[in-house]
Amino acid sequence: MSKQYDYIVIGGGSAGSGTANRAAMHGAKVLLIEGGRVGGTCVNVGCVPKKIMWYGAQVSETFHKYAEGYGFGAEQVTFDFAKLKANRDAYVGRSRQSYANNFERNGVEKIDGYASFVDNHTVQVNGETYTAPHITIATGGHPLYPQVPGSELGETSDDFFEWETLPESVLIVGAGYIAAELAGVLNELGVKTDLAFRRDHILRGFDSMLSSQVMEEMAGAGITLHPNAVPKSLTKADNGKLVFEAESGEVISADRVIWAIGRGPNVDNMGLENTGVTFRKNGYIETDEFENTAVDGIYAIGDVNGKIALTPVAIAAGRRLSERLFNNKPNSKLDYENVPSVVFTHPIIGTVGLSEEAADAKYGKENVKVYTSTFASMYTAVTPNRQMVKMKLVTVGEEEKVVGLHGIGYGVDEMIQGFAVAIKMGATKEDFDNTVAIHPTGSEEFVTMR
Ligand code: FAD
Ligand code: NDP
Repeated sequence: MSKQYDYIVIGGGSAGSGTANRAAMHGAKVLLIEGGRVGGTCVNVGCVPKKIMWYGAQVSETFHKYAEGYGFGAEQVTFDFAKLKANRDAYVGRSRQSYANNFERNGVEKIDGYASFVDNHTVQVNGETYTAPHITIATGGHPLYPQVPGSELGETSDDFFEWETLPESVLIVGAGYIAAELAGVLNELGVKTDLAFRRDHILRGFDSMLSSQVMEEMAGAGITLHPNAVPKSLTKADNGKLVFEAESGEVISADRVIWAIGRGPNVDNMGLENTGVTFRKNGYIETDEFENTAVDGIYAIGDVNGKIALTPVAIAAGRRLSERLFNNKPNSKLDYENVPSVVFTHPIIGTVGLSEEAADAKYGKENVKVYTSTFASMYTAVTPNRQMVKMKLVTVGEEEKVVGLHGIGYGVDEMIQGFAVAIKMGATKEDFDNTVAIHPTGSEEFVTMR
C-alpha cells in the first residue's frame, strides 16, 4: 500500500524547500524527498560557500592592495586556508541545519533517498511507494564536463569546495558566472590563475561594458586570460602537471583544472519515462508559465526547468506554485522579467534588466538612450591600486523608461536590489533624476547621470 500525501516534493534544495514549506504552512500534508544534502546546491556547493570564499578574497585584497594607502602596514600577513575552509564548512553546516529546522517547524515530513517515478502520481524511495495528486520535481542540476579526451582529469566547482589545500596553479575553463567567480577568488588567494574561454570574451549575454571591464581588471590583477581556447584534450605530464590543449594548438599547464562550462538538469534515473513529462531540446523539463509539466499534477521548478538558474528564482517559483495549489490563488506564478543578479567577480558586477545590446535588438537602436558613469571608487582612490567603477542606465522611448541598469566595481552588489524594485515598477530616467542622491556613496552616480 502506498502512503498518501497532498503534495510530494522531490529535492530539498532552494526550489523544493521553498515550495514544500509554503504548502505545509497552508495546511497541506507534504512529503519532501532528498537524496543528497538538504539545502541543495546553493547551501552546500554553491552560493553560500562561494560567497564565503569571495569574502576571504576580499579580505586578502584589503590587506594586499588597499591597507597601505590607509597607513596600515600589512607586510606580515599570514593566510591559513585550512582555517578558512573549516570556518566556511561550519557555516555551511549551520545553514543546512536551518533548512532541516524549517521543515520540522512547518510540519514537512522528510525522507532521505532518491525518488523515482512509478507512474504519474506515484514515486518510489528505498523500496516504499508514495502517492499524491501533486508532485513537484525540484532536482536541480549538476556541473558538466566537456566531451574531450582526458576531461575526467579535471574537476568541477563541486570538487573545488572539497579542496583541503590550495594548489600553486590552476586553470579554469569556461566563460560564465562560475568560471569568472572562481578565477577571481583563486587569484586573490594567491594561486597562479589562468582562465581559458572559447570565444573572445567572457560573460556573454551581459552588457558588453561589464564583460570588457571585468576582463581588463582580471588581466590587471594577474589572471592570464586565454581567449579563443576551445577545449581539445587534457593530459597528465610526467611532472604531475595537467596539460590542457586547445583546438588552436595552444597549450596551458597547471596543477589543477576546473571545468566551468555550464550545468545540466538532474533528470536521469528517476523513472521519468514512466510519466508523460516532456523535455526541451537541451534536456531540461518542459514547463509552462505556471510551472506545469505536460502531465496534470506534475510540476518542475528551479534549475531543472532551465529558466533562470538562481536561488531566489527557485525559491520564489516554488512559493508561488504552492500559493496556487494550496492557497486558492489560481493566478500565482513567477514573473521571470527583470530578475536582478550579482556576479561575485573581482571587481563585482551587479545587473538588472536588458543589456544595451539586448535593448538595441528588442527596441531598435534609435529608440534606446544610454547613460554612463565612470569614476575611481573612493575606497580605492587613496591607495596605489585605484579601481574604476563603471555604471550604465539603458533607457527606451521618449519617456526614457529604464529597462537596464548595470554596474561593475566596489559596492555594486549591495546597490542593485533597491534599484531592481524601481525598475520592476517601471521607473523612468526622470524618476531617477528626481531622487535625491546619498553622498558620498557610489550608488549616487545612478541618480546623477547626465
Ligand atoms: P538544487 O539546489 O540543486 O537542489 C536539488 C536537490 O535535489 C539536491 O539537494 C539533490 O540532492 C536533490 N535530488 C536530485 N535528484 C533527486 C532525486 N531523484 N530524489 C531526491 N532528491 C534528489 N545562485 C544565486 O542566486 N546566487 C549565487 O551566488 C549562486 N552561486 C552559485 C555558485 C555555484 C558554484 C553554483 C554551482 C551555483 C550557484 N548559484 C547561485 C545557483 C544556485 O545554487 C541554483 O540556482 C539553486 O541551488 C537551484 O536550486 P534547485 O532547488 O533548483 O536545485
Ligand atoms: P554558465 O551557463 O553561466 O556559463 C557557462 C559558459 O561556458 C557558457 O555560457 C559558454 O560560454 C561556456 N561553455 C559552454 N560549453 C563549453 C565548452 N564545451 N567549452 C568551453 N566553454 C564552454 O554556467 P556556469 O556553470 O558558470 O553557471 C551555471 C549557472 O549557475 C549560471 O548560469 C547561473 O545561473 C548560476 N550561478 C549564479 C551565480 C550567481 O548568481 N552569482 C554564481 C554561479 C552560478 P560561451 O558560449 O560564451 O563560450
